[in-house]
Amino acid sequence: MDDLCHPVGHVAIGNGYVLYAGWVYSHPLDPGDRGGSHPCHSGPHASLDTLIRTGGGISAAPVLLPASVSMPTKSVPTAAPYVPNSSSLNDLRSAARECKGCHLWEHGTQTVFGEGRQSLGLMLVGEQPGDQEDLAGHPFIGPAGRILSMALERASIDREQVYVTNAVKHFKFEPRGKRRIHKKPNIQEIRACRPWLVAEIEALRPSLIVCLGATAAQAILGPDFRLTKSRGQVFASPLAPRVLATIHPSSLLRADEAARRLGMEQIIEDLVEVRKALAA
Ligand code: SF4
Repeated sequence: MDDLCHPVGHVAIGNGYVLYAGWVYSHPLDPGDRGGSHPCHSGPHASLDTLIRTGGGISAAPVLLPASVSMPTKSVPTAAPYVPNSSSLNDLRSAARECKGCHLWEHGTQTVFGEGRQSLGLMLVGEQPGDQEDLAGHPFIGPAGRILSMALERASIDREQVYVTNAVKHFKFEPRGKRRIHKKPNIQEIRACRPWLVAEIEALRPSLIVCLGATAAQAILGPDFRLTKSRGQVFASPLAPRVLATIHPSSLLRADEAARRLGMEQIIEDLVEVRKALAA
């Protein structure tokens, strides 16, 4: 079974039978990911109406089951119940501190929410906080953040005027001795945290989002997005008029000298295009 699929449960239709609605494909790009309206967030008793209205992507034919049969339910991790109905970043940031939408809150020191200004209409989205960000509670302040600052400066974009955040707000790591080694978030964790990202985007309404790395790009542009194929291209998205993906600065930390130089040049080249697009 596709790991993006989950059961939507059953709807009583009389005569002692229930309609078991099967499995619904939940696309991470669906703006309904903020919660509530999408069948994936409407709990085990999602109405048939909702399923029909959304088109649902139902991948299995409905089957009739006796009402006495209790169907197993699978709980889907999501931040949606923790996201307040507010467009104030302060409200969102403060609510995010209490988020237990997925298991990552148990391991990280704290939620690392986005921060920065929005005067350029530009939002940068990375993957997840790193070790230093986790301890300090601020995004992009560690080694990757320093590379990002350097690239922004070289592209003549003032970092002080840019909002920076991550697709996943808790640090996922693997303990190795005294060190905490970064571990890539999986699709369930990215999808669980996505309501915060959507809420930030709705609050800020950026005219351009730069995704730093494949995780952020897939959270915003969908799981089929390939950075190697579409890096530096501008896409329209339901979340923002323009979205561009470039390399995550942290990938340069692990690269050899030649790859590091090339990667830096590519990030700068993409950010220069971003500056031009914002000025147009
Ligand atoms: S990673 Fe996101 S969804 Fe999971 S607990 Fe942290 S803030 Fe909540």
